[in-house]
Amino acid sequence: MDNHLTTDFDEACFLVDLSNVVRNRRLGEPGARSLKRLRLLVEAAKSLARDPDVKLYLVADRSLRHGGRREFGDLGDIRQLGSWVRRGLVEELADADDRLLELCELTGIPVITGDRFRGARGERPWLQGNTDDFLEPVPGPAGTVRLIPVDMGVAHASAISMKLEEDALKKQGLLDARRRPRFDLVSRNWRCEDRRCTLYDTTKGSAALLPRVRRSSPTCEMHGGVLVDDGPRTATVQLKLLLDGELKGRFTLENGTKVPVGRAPGPGGIALHGLIPADRTNGLSRVHVDLRISDGVVHVLDRSRYGTTRWRSAAGRGGPGRWRRLGTAEERFGGGDELQLVDGVVLARSGRRFPTELAQEWQRRGPLPPDAADVTRMH
Ligand SMILES: [Zn+2]
Repeated sequence: MDNHLTTDFDEACFLVDLSNVVRNRRLGEPGARSLKRLRLLVEAAKSLARDPDVKLYLVADRSLRHGGRREFGDLGDIRQLGSWVRRGLVEELADADDRLLELCELTGIPVITGDRFRGARGERPWLQGNTDDFLEPVPGPAGTVRLIPVDMGVAHASAISMKLEEDALKKQGLLDARRRPRFDLVSRNWRCEDRRCTLYDTTKGSAALLPRVRRSSPTCEMHGGVLVDDGPRTATVQLKLLLDGELKGRFTLENGTKVPVGRAPGPGGIALHGLIPADRTNGLSRVHVDLRISDGVVHVLDRSRYGTTRWRSAAGRGGPGRWRRLGTAEERFGGGDELQLVDGVVLARSGRRFPTELAQEWQRRGPLPPDAADVTRMH
């Protein structure tokens, strides 16, 4: 279990609203609070990400561990939670909701929760009509759990924070300020000026947190001070190689590079020879595709001899889209997209997006129409 937990956003595939999951009586066994629900969720996350090593970033309210202890059917759950918090595998705060939304906004990593965050929509207008960033755990067959994408719907104005309704201009101001994700923040390392503080120390690996944003400055959660810029953080893109849906390899691409992928692409490339059995390399060219990562956007060029490469989006609301032929020019290879090189051999990007891609997406979304608050479409 522990090897599926991380508080390093570079590794995390999903953010988890832990209190919400542990308290969800529809999942697994009866009882008010149970950590078994998290174990079922890990299985669901593995299968959705098609990654047996999938990593989750857990955020919990302090009250999960400290309030209502008798609600746990198994007291071992409380000890387990305490151990995870001490080892930096669970981020525990007074208000987990706010932190989850902040992390999602900063990193583009999807959130697993049953909450619709109706009360947060004034401050975070990107929640309105969102269909990309939230997954809900629901009961699956034979006591399992499934994850389904959530249409957050558009909350009625009366459900949105009262203080913002009072002042439409202020609301507009917030919209503008919040529409740009802070990739300036996620692309740097940060250091707390308190010498004993290691919360943001990236040399410590999985315990390095992403700073909290207070009055638009990165701030230490524990000491409250503004954090010091500690140099650039290497921006990377994660790539998985799947054979018939099974994970065969994992690669990291760095910004500013061009990486050929194929049977035997030569130096600097990703060689698939040896990763997939010889009888499945039929039709696989020596260099099959070029991946170019520039300004945080990944581009793909089909270089296969017979033009066999297909593209699809797998992150959509209705599940994976239809395979489409790549053109002869470079195309975008976005977060959640997949490339099929030859039958059954697929390169997949995780659902999380690169900070620059996130920024572009938000710009495309634009402001909500003025009558949006009249529509109620909750699930
Ligand atoms: Zn600190």
